Amino acid sequence: MSVNKQIVLASRPTGAVAPANFRLVEQPLPSAWDGWLIVRNHYVSLDPYMRGRLSDAKSYARPQQIDEVMGAGTVGEVIQSNRSEFAVGDFVTGPGGWQEYSLTDGMGWRKVDRGIPLSAYLGVVGMPGVTAWYGLNEIIKPKAGETVVVSAASGAVGGVVGQLAKLKGANVVGIAGGAEKCAYVRDELGFDACLDHKSERFEGEMSASMQDGLDGLFENVGGEPFRQCMKHINDFGRVAICGLIASYESAPTGLPDMMLVLRRRIRIEGFIVSDHLDLWPQALAELGGLVASGRLKYRETVREGLEAAPQALVDLLHGGNFGKMLIKLV
Ligand code: NDP
Repeated sequence: MSVNKQIVLASRPTGAVAPANFRLVEQPLPSAWDGWLIVRNHYVSLDPYMRGRLSDAKSYARPQQIDEVMGAGTVGEVIQSNRSEFAVGDFVTGPGGWQEYSLTDGMGWRKVDRGIPLSAYLGVVGMPGVTAWYGLNEIIKPKAGETVVVSAASGAVGGVVGQLAKLKGANVVGIAGGAEKCAYVRDELGFDACLDHKSERFEGEMSASMQDGLDGLFENVGGEPFRQCMKHINDFGRVAICGLIASYESAPTGLPDMMLVLRRRIRIEGFIVSDHLDLWPQALAELGGLVASGRLKYRETVREGLEAAPQALVDLLHGGNFGKMLIKLV
């Protein structure tokens, strides 16, 4: 209780990120001074965007600094408070970082309701859920009967995209890595179909299931599956570029044919969920309601202890997760 374990960035990766790029440190736990509070983190979120922050190349967000605690969303319990909006015993979520305790002025933190499991606030009722909600509702805008394809379909974002699209009456096809993930996407999440991008038959199965083409593509991965999807896009199709995880540690591949984009009058839009904070309350309210009523399902991969975070991030970037990747601390 008097010591706070933290993980800091020790060095920037030059190729693939490795656990050696991080360092575990122990700091004495200070008391919360005026206007501040201390949160005991129960879960730490691991997200693909963290790989981008490890580079100091110019981007939409400030890079992770060397020797600073790794940035991350967390959910936990207030154990000391000198702020009137937060009381000891409140459960909260915010930018707590890779550490057991977060000392904060409360900026970016909000209280959560214990009606749904705490960990869900880092996934389906958190940033990944809002990402799915935004890309689907604001960019793809599916109509009933249209076909929507989503990659990384068993993941934190992809699983929500497909279920929301089904609720809107779309025909939904997922893409995932391996038979087990595909079975989950179809049988548990209720997608109409799921194609295994690791199968030798992927290209043929994509053609067979796209007889009428696709109208909306929620792209989470990039690479060859993205190129295959674009071949089947219908006139006036909409593509939400949410992520290109296949290229986070290498040069991008599978980029679309611009002649096809022109001829089929395709709309392609990249987005970053944190640009749309005004819509978060609406999205979170809808997602929370769907989870509470059992209409939105999700899955998690939970690793134990802060020390597990570096390897868990490496695994996340290579498909070693099945659903939302989390570190459990308490
Ligand atoms: P996921 O839970 O989907 O985990 C990542 C998944 O990506 C892996 O499980 C794996 O699934 C898939 N993957 C990794 N590498 C490859 C590869 N080379 N080829 C194919 N698939 C691969 O992560 P999230 O749901 O958190 O994030 C999904 C995407 O959304 C990411 O690209 C992320 O960067 C992006 N994102 C964007 C946001 C925004 O604001 N624009 C906000 C949040 C996330 P499988 O085993 O099925 O292949």
